Amino acid sequence: MDNHILNIIYLIASVLFVIGLKMLSHPETARKGNLWAALGMLLAIAGTIVLHHHTSLEPIKIILIIGGILIGTIIGAVAARKVKMTKMPEMVSLFNGMGGACAGLISLIEFSHLQEAATPPGMKTLFIIVSGLIIGSISFSGSMIAFAKLNGTLAQAIRLPNYNLINNIWLLLTVFAAGFIVFSGVTHVTFIYVVFLMALVYGIIFVVPIGGADMPVVISLLNSFTGVAAAFGGFLYHNQVMLTGGILVGSAGTLLTIVMCKAMNRPLFNVIFGAFGESHTKTGAGQTMVGTIKDISISDLAILMNYSKKVIIVPGYGLAVAQAQHVIHELELLLEERGVEVKYAIHPVAGRMPGHMNVLLAESNVSYDKLVEMEEINPEFASTDVVLVVGANDVVNPAAHNDPASPIYGMPILDVENAHHIIVNKRSMNAGYAGIENELFYNPKTSMLFGDAKVALTKLVAELKTM
Ligand code: NDP
Repeated sequence: MDNHILNIIYLIASVLFVIGLKMLSHPETARKGNLWAALGMLLAIAGTIVLHHHTSLEPIKIILIIGGILIGTIIGAVAARKVKMTKMPEMVSLFNGMGGACAGLISLIEFSHLQEAATPPGMKTLFIIVSGLIIGSISFSGSMIAFAKLNGTLAQAIRLPNYNLINNIWLLLTVFAAGFIVFSGVTHVTFIYVVFLMALVYGIIFVVPIGGADMPVVISLLNSFTGVAAAFGGFLYHNQVMLTGGILVGSAGTLLTIVMCKAMNRPLFNVIFGAFGESHTKTGAGQTMVGTIKDISISDLAILMNYSKKVIIVPGYGLAVAQAQHVIHELELLLEERGVEVKYAIHPVAGRMPGHMNVLLAESNVSYDKLVEMEEINPEFASTDVVLVVGANDVVNPAAHNDPASPIYGMPILDVENAHHIIVNKRSMNAGYAGIENELFYNPKTSMLFGDAKVALTKLVAELKTM
């Protein structure tokens, strides 16, 4: 009876995951979607603890389980509340790594139980165990390296000679070692620990050479790995909710990876098999810049914007750093009051995480229909009087079109060059995430508005109010 109730609970939890995921696809419903999915997870965990048919669940084990849940919940809740928006990708890679570690540990523990089993394990069981172990461990160590790179502890890209060849040979050796366990049926734990270590090492050497602008693709790929590893756990325990949850994470991560690859013009094959990011070592920092830099005063900019018909704002990572989302919304409202049409151009990898700009602008109640995706807004720049680039750099770098030697060559960008006037707000001439110069700043149509985005925009709003 308990088993039937538990299966119904798992079904409800799975449906809640699907509903939650669907709601996450729109900023207006995303917050609630997250809560629905979390409710599904709560149901699944509580149902398993109370109703699962346990053979030996002594009180001490219950205390350990509840203690673990409490510690995890407190750390997760505090971290999620405290983390700054700009640090979100780091937190995602850390949490993702923990998911991979869980999947890996499940495999290690279940393998060690095989020796005590009355009958030798079948190939299917061994395949599920080693697959979960390899994928989970790669996801864990890879995510830890991604975390260290994002927070700057680790150099952006460390590349040994022939690293692609070394990586692929190492992966093959790991798969061979795993294949040996599956086909020979050995149950001695030494073998599984060797595969575990090999997979951990692969996760490290897989992510270490990847640098700069390619990191978002890697994080989303590792996210899909964690999902797949968890799904193997579901197969192992014949647990439908674990299987559904894993498949949802795996497929959502894979889809996101494909979308990001498209946005950054990186073929998925290259991501998986390691040719990825190679152009960065072969090229320098792009072409030498020619032209002069000119800047614009707040009062001149206020006049220019006040008499414009159409203004497009391009938000980037700097907007998040400066926390200027509220003042930019104020600017938008002020301009609209004066009959200026205002839109926001959203590049898929602007900021430091997928959807970063949407989340940031939603925080200040910018209406969603004002946020226009790259493909849709690009044809509009030619009929735009002023484009205001706020803390964005790589996503508006024309080297992506013009300079085959540039690491970002081929990446689709926002074609701000086509606007009549280009205003770029940033604090200095420093490069963006990809570490390369930007010829846009030297364009005769471009004027720089130097300074922190919040400070500069606050002054601009004040100036506009006096007009
Ligand atoms: P960039 O990182 O290219 O540029 C941001 C710019 O903001 C910098 O040049 C900086 O210049 C400026 N800036 C920083 N702080 C401030 C401030 N307080 N006020 C004003 N300006 C400021 O950002 P983009 O959004 O254009 O591009 C995103 C990059 O990040 C891409 O290369 C992308 O591939 C990568 N990436 C994206 C992820 C994603 O999922 N979205 C994840 C990880 C990486 P200065 O110092 O002179 O002020």
